[in-house]
Amino acid sequence: MLPIERQRQILSWLKKEDTLSITDISRRLSVSEMTVYRDIKPLIEENEIVKTTGGITLMKKISSNSCAYCLRQSENRHSVQIITNDLKVEQLCCPHCGLLHYADIKSEVSQIICRDFLKNTTISARMAYFLFDADFELNCCLPQVIAFESEKHAKQFQKGFGGTIFRFEAAVSEILLRMSGNTGCSCKY
Ligand SMILES: [Zn+2]
Ligand SMILES: [Zn+2]
Repeated sequence: MLPIERQRQILSWLKKEDTLSITDISRRLSVSEMTVYRDIKPLIEENEIVKTTGGITLMKKISSNSCAYCLRQSENRHSVQIITNDLKVEQLCCPHCGLLHYADIKSEVSQIICRDFLKNTTISARMAYFLFDADFELNCCLPQVIAFESEKHAKQFQKGFGGTIFRFEAAVSEILLRMSGNTGCSCKY
């Protein structure tokens, strides 16, 4: 098999299986691990695949990202990323889905990242302040949740638009409570 054929084969396996170890690939292709490394090097350089602790995985293309919880397109400035222990990146359309998805896969979560609503900076959701029920239309999921980096900004926003502020763990409990009995997103309670 030519290197290019092996590369195609590796990519097609990854599409089906998500993650593959180098040992696994070398066994399946009956080539040495050195050869596998040489084969995947250009794929890594072209950002087709990424190395993980377990081996290699396909690079998730931003354009095809839909919310891992409600499947809405998550290309907006409220999006939340969850990085799992095996380094998978999951996109969520907004803090509402971020918190719900976190609750679902809590033990697998390594990091949960959201954006500050005012400054658009990236922040750890665990450190963020979450404003529920503000009278401000985000055009995403209901009950809507807005994330802030600082308590001061959350309070200023709350002064203008109302709502209740929660810290991370409390926000997770609150969203679960609000959604209990409802499945899926965008449910008015
Ligand atoms: Zn969503
Ligand atoms: Zn949403």
